[in-house]
Amino acid sequence: MNGGETLDFEIRRNPQPVAAAERSALLANPGFGRIFTDHMVTVRYAEGKGWYDARVEPRGPIAMDPATAVLHYAQEIFEGLKAYRTADGGVSMFRPEANAARFRSSAQRLAMAPVPERLFIDSLEALIRVDRDWVPTDPEGSLYLRPFQYASEVFLGVKPSSEYLFLIIASPVGSYFKGGVQPVKVWVSRDYTRAAPGGTGAAKCGGNYAASLVAQAEAMEHGCDQVVFLDAVERKYVEELGGMNVFYVFDDGSITTPPLTGSILPGITRESVLRLAADRGHAVREEQYSYEQWRADAASGRLREAFACGTAAVVTPIGTVRDGDGEFTVGSGEAGEATMALREQLVAIQRGTAPDPHGWVHRVL
Ligand SMILES: *Cc1c(COP(=O)(O)O)cnc(C)c1O
Repeated sequence: MNGGETLDFEIRRNPQPVAAAERSALLANPGFGRIFTDHMVTVRYAEGKGWYDARVEPRGPIAMDPATAVLHYAQEIFEGLKAYRTADGGVSMFRPEANAARFRSSAQRLAMAPVPERLFIDSLEALIRVDRDWVPTDPEGSLYLRPFQYASEVFLGVKPSSEYLFLIIASPVGSYFKGGVQPVKVWVSRDYTRAAPGGTGAAKCGGNYAASLVAQAEAMEHGCDQVVFLDAVERKYVEELGGMNVFYVFDDGSITTPPLTGSILPGITRESVLRLAADRGHAVREEQYSYEQWRADAASGRLREAFACGTAAVVTPIGTVRDGDGEFTVGSGEAGEATMALREQLVAIQRGTAPDPHGWVHRVL
């Protein structure tokens, strides 16, 4: 199958959807990733048959044989994107084509059958149409969409699975920052790396997250919110956070982010921020930046702002940086001006309240 192929969806409505009053109560304070809509998408794959049995069905547990390959060898990939309620009551997604393309490249790295891009987008749209009432109307809220795919063959041999299940679940989410955007404190991990050259760092696979959890726990033990990983070879250059890319803003107005050398996840927010920053007249560079330079530039004042970015929190200012030897602040330690301007413009494009010069908004309803 190539990227243009798709399937017809069988719609099996949930006979017991959450009642409207209960749904409204849940949507009033959804938090992140703890409540779910009434339905999910499932599409199956078998070698020699291709993708088949596309369905929107009631959300529920998946029965699994204990010898299912993913449980043993972690052949699993995922995506994360959001659907937004538009001012006229419709629904749109932000750059789902980019998620579809990244899902395909993640599949290739994990030796999995890729989901055709058209089928990926049609699956998202099919789920949104059925669960449209779950897209929050609150201007801070959105419907977080989680496509994922795993090896479903029942076999203990080590080889690429010959069967896969592709699913999408959806979770209404509120504002990531309660009470306004707050700068985060980050922990620079000296003991752990996230991804090495030739590894799976550029693929969005569950295994990368499993490997990052101990470093994230260490960050929290040291009073930090997030972990920053350095490169695995020299332990010198900043790569990214556990689930967010990183940016730097300098006193001459220029903006840099580490280059995509293969061990960094190619964030769609990262790419969008690069384009918006250039549109706004910033000189933008993708270049390696060492942790020592970060510390020196923060001390000299050359570095004015730092921020992290990703779908969940959009753009997050980095206020304080800590490692085993001590800590330093970036700029005033507060959210920077360029950081907040980029954040506001990106959020406004996503929500349809600002012009969309790059054609990023994908209208569904
Ligand atoms: C998903 C992810 C990001 C952010 O990607 P977006 O497409 O912007 O959401 C950054 N780093 C890692 C490790 C990720 O998994």
